[in-house]
Amino acid sequence: MKYNIGLLRGDGIGPEIVDSAVRVLEAVGKKYGHEFVFTPYDIGGVAIDKYGIPLPEATVEGCLASDSVLLGAVGGPKWDTLPGHLRPEKALLGIRAAMGLFTNLRPAKLYPALAGECPLREDIVSEGFDIMIVRELTGGIYFGERGVREGKYGEEAYDTECYSRMEIERIARVAFEAARLRGKKLTSIDKANVLESSRLWRKVVHEMALEYPDVECTDMLVDNAAMQLVRNPRQFDVIVTSNMFGDILSDEASQITGSIGMLPSASLGDTTRGLYEPIHGSAPDIAGQNKANPIATILSAAMMLLYSFGLTEESDAIVSAVDKVLNMGLRTADLAHGKPALTTVEMTDKIIENL
Ligand code: NAD
Repeated sequence: MKYNIGLLRGDGIGPEIVDSAVRVLEAVGKKYGHEFVFTPYDIGGVAIDKYGIPLPEATVEGCLASDSVLLGAVGGPKWDTLPGHLRPEKALLGIRAAMGLFTNLRPAKLYPALAGECPLREDIVSEGFDIMIVRELTGGIYFGERGVREGKYGEEAYDTECYSRMEIERIARVAFEAARLRGKKLTSIDKANVLESSRLWRKVVHEMALEYPDVECTDMLVDNAAMQLVRNPRQFDVIVTSNMFGDILSDEASQITGSIGMLPSASLGDTTRGLYEPIHGSAPDIAGQNKANPIATILSAAMMLLYSFGLTEESDAIVSAVDKVLNMGLRTADLAHGKPALTTVEMTDKIIENL
């Protein structure tokens, strides 16, 4: 099969880590007989330098014409003083909106080989954990009616959380399908003891659970979920939740893995075209030094194979190559704690060797 992949290398370490993922995809293509065609587009600071704006129209059109899109990271000190609408990060919201991406998939996986990186007690995490957070991305309080007005006690401000049945159904469907591909366990997180929007959320999720009898679906209140994530993260398989709860819980979950350079993400919409990117930023402090950990971006490419192209075996091959390399004790500088470390290119070579 032939797949057209848009590449948004971006700024800082973006070009280095995207190039690593491209090399891994090319090796997978060779091994399994697929052709991946890569087309680069400018985004972020590099686009500001060339065109004066962070998200040129040609980038949007190119991404919409691709089968899927891989992004490095954007931003850096050079562009930090620009006004908000011209900041590199503005391009991220712009491209997500243009591609109609309403789902954010954020896996938080602690590899047993990296258990020492986790800030939680050893007996909690010695066997690692593997959680997939499915966050609604375009609704809820971040997009609801808001304002500032004169109230009973003077100036007041408000934001509104509103979810339609359609929005809940479509995100829950992604989560049930993801659970089917994994451990068949789904935890829906809400605040149904207080919020009306959460009560609708819970009702719709329960109705949909009838369509997925093979998936064990339970509810959890968000305050309890925040506690359970640090008390016993192994109890979770797939989590589905609203935009704001997902924002907070996915950051909490990534922190308890202790290694920002390892975590991929995917944003999806109605089509199979997605936007895949590491959760970390452009790491300007190590840019251009061949020091960055490429694994988060390589695993983002593995997610692309699975969620956009349905290439399960090929995706698994990348994930297990990463597992093998970690189990061999190989580390980039961010995880080496001063011991000898592999460069970005060497780590990529090792992953390719172990495919
Ligand atoms: P950051 O994630 O770029 O870096 C935080 C720390 O983690 C740094 O010490 C960095 O060296 C390290 N780090 C991050 N990724 C690494 C990797 N793959 N390998 C090794 N070490 C890694 O966050 P920051 O410093 O707060 O932000 C830097 C820039 O990135 C800012 O301009 C910010 O706006 C931007 N940013 C972009 C995105 C994105 O493009 N999605 C996300 C977050 C931040």
